[in-house]
Amino acid sequence: MPIYEYKCQKCGNNFEYLAIGGKGPRNCPKCESEQIKKMLSSCGFFTKGSGGETIKSAASAASACSSCSAASCSTCGH
Ligand SMILES: [Zn+2]
Repeated sequence: MPIYEYKCQKCGNNFEYLAIGGKGPRNCPKCESEQIKKMLSSCGFFTKGSGGETIKSAASAASACSSCSAASCSTCGH
């Protein structure tokens, strides 16, 4: 099952969400803000490898890596 990473735009909390039935989280589990952003970057999957598989996203350039300051995940080295 796919696990997606989200980041709260309000409190900056990073959290993972296990996508079931294609549904995403409605709000941040920490501050309950609805201003959350789905991390399209594949950096999180590369660094964690929790699922044992590598998930690549074609939209990696559209989102900055959450764990580094690089603008594109293709160059961040994570
Ligand atoms: Zn939050």
